[in-house]
Amino acid sequence: LTHFLERARTFFGRNEIVSRLPDKTLVRSTYADFHRRTGKLANALSRLGVGQGDRVATLSWNHQRHLEVYLGAPAMGAVVHTLNLRLHPNELGYIANHAEDKVVVVDRSLLPLFRKFADQVRSVRHVIVIPDLPGDTKTSAEIDYEELIAPEKDEFAWPTLDERSAAMICYTSGTTGNPKGVVYSHRSTVLHSLVSCMADTIGVREGDTVLPVVPMFHAAAWGLPYSAIAAGSRIVFPGPHLDPQSLLDLMAAEKVTLAAGVPTIWLGILQLLDQHPGKWDLSTVRSMVIGGSAAPPSLIDGFKARHDLDVTHAWGMTETNPLGTLARVKNGLSGSDDATKLGCKASQGYAVPFVEQRHVGEDGAVLPWDGETMGELEVRGPWVASSYFGAEGADRFTEDGWFKTGDVVTIDHEGYLRITDRSKDVIKSGGEWISSVALENALMSHPAVLEAAVFAARHPKWTERPLAAIVLKEGKTATKEELSAHIEAKFAKFWLPDDYVFMAQIPRTSTGKFLKTKLRELHGDHLE
Ligand code: ATP
Ligand code: MG
Repeated sequence: LTHFLERARTFFGRNEIVSRLPDKTLVRSTYADFHRRTGKLANALSRLGVGQGDRVATLSWNHQRHLEVYLGAPAMGAVVHTLNLRLHPNELGYIANHAEDKVVVVDRSLLPLFRKFADQVRSVRHVIVIPDLPGDTKTSAEIDYEELIAPEKDEFAWPTLDERSAAMICYTSGTTGNPKGVVYSHRSTVLHSLVSCMADTIGVREGDTVLPVVPMFHAAAWGLPYSAIAAGSRIVFPGPHLDPQSLLDLMAAEKVTLAAGVPTIWLGILQLLDQHPGKWDLSTVRSMVIGGSAAPPSLIDGFKARHDLDVTHAWGMTETNPLGTLARVKNGLSGSDDATKLGCKASQGYAVPFVEQRHVGEDGAVLPWDGETMGELEVRGPWVASSYFGAEGADRFTEDGWFKTGDVVTIDHEGYLRITDRSKDVIKSGGEWISSVALENALMSHPAVLEAAVFAARHPKWTERPLAAIVLKEGKTATKEELSAHIEAKFAKFWLPDDYVFMAQIPRTSTGKFLKTKLRELHGDHLE
């Protein structure tokens, strides 16, 4: 790693892929064209007064121009800050202020959203509009992206940057409170990209056509666009509407080999595939990465058993840039076969190279890897954050580099990790922990169940008891008794939910994670 700085410059400023594969298509243009446009953007941003360390925010869907900002701004020393466009305008205002964004690059279609919080943000000097819609709705105060870069030179004198300086800032999803800002250095971003290209991780490679279904405002779309560029792959971006039909059409038409998204997206896709088996030719797809919240075994097994599609289950957090652990359904990449582990244990796999994992008890003692003892997961590694932006959350980072994830897990003797809950969602009944995720997985294996969320309801005697919120598949029925009978044999009696609540949909965060705080608000006193 001694000459790492050189690598960082190569990756962002003088991508050697550009010389090796100038004519290869990246998104819409070739690698060489992309590089030229990135140089123009860097010149334009400098002309606007953007200097080293200044924050350049994006409010943007997944598309090539967003990617140009992703590469161009950090390469010139600025810090890209991706804003989560699914948040409430007040939250966006809070975050943009918190990060002190100087420039905002916004899709024209998202200008109405931006205008709802623009007044709250005091630091913004320039607003650059990406023309993703025909017609002109911008006002004279805003700058058109294409007009801005058109007159600029292709060449930019890319500076030599400190590898530990900030390249990007990304806020957590805000599932458990206010989103927290996580800063990625050049070093961590590049290392993370390279590790994602290793054969025994996701193994992004030159021949891949990559579809990042993950919005680019989440942990740099899980780092996938950076890895794709490091490998020299082609990237296909989805449209703004992530419906299963258009995603499947896109995967087939563009011969996608690698796609990544959250379980909600893949659940919809699996349902559609089940309804129309054989309709889409997905023979080019070599791996689908599922992560962001727990992927139920019924989802992973369904893809494999009924459609012969290989799944990689990834655990990660904004704080881990985000790749932390991986499990694969099939050998595909490295010859190891995690299928049985996944099928029977709903494992999140084990830590990717260079990431260390351990779990600790409430007293901070490191726990044994016996596959049973639950404790809070801690991780450490080159791309694990060492603090939050601002003063928040200092207590989650230890002096020797461990980060307290807030996820409750078991780890078995081989290092396979299983998320049983978030510490804030843990169900504690009469002093015993109950894993909501294990119950959810079992419930989801019932043929009539589309989704299940198990959460803690207050109980006069046991303090808390599990309650299950259930969404049934269209046209299917199941009674409480049937659901209970379906999972009874798999768990100790005291683990079984006291009751079931049937819902049309389960409240979710903008990321598609169950909002169990909301479920508790709605049904928390159900048993009292
Ligand atoms: P906040 O930290 O603001 O409350 P958040 O934790 O939801 O929000 P993210 O960084 O987007 O923000 O999400 C990370 C969390 O998502 C992890 O801590 C974990 O709880 C959950 N998660 C991610 N991947 C998986 C997975 N494969 N299985 C289970 N849970 C997962
Ligand atoms: Mg979190």
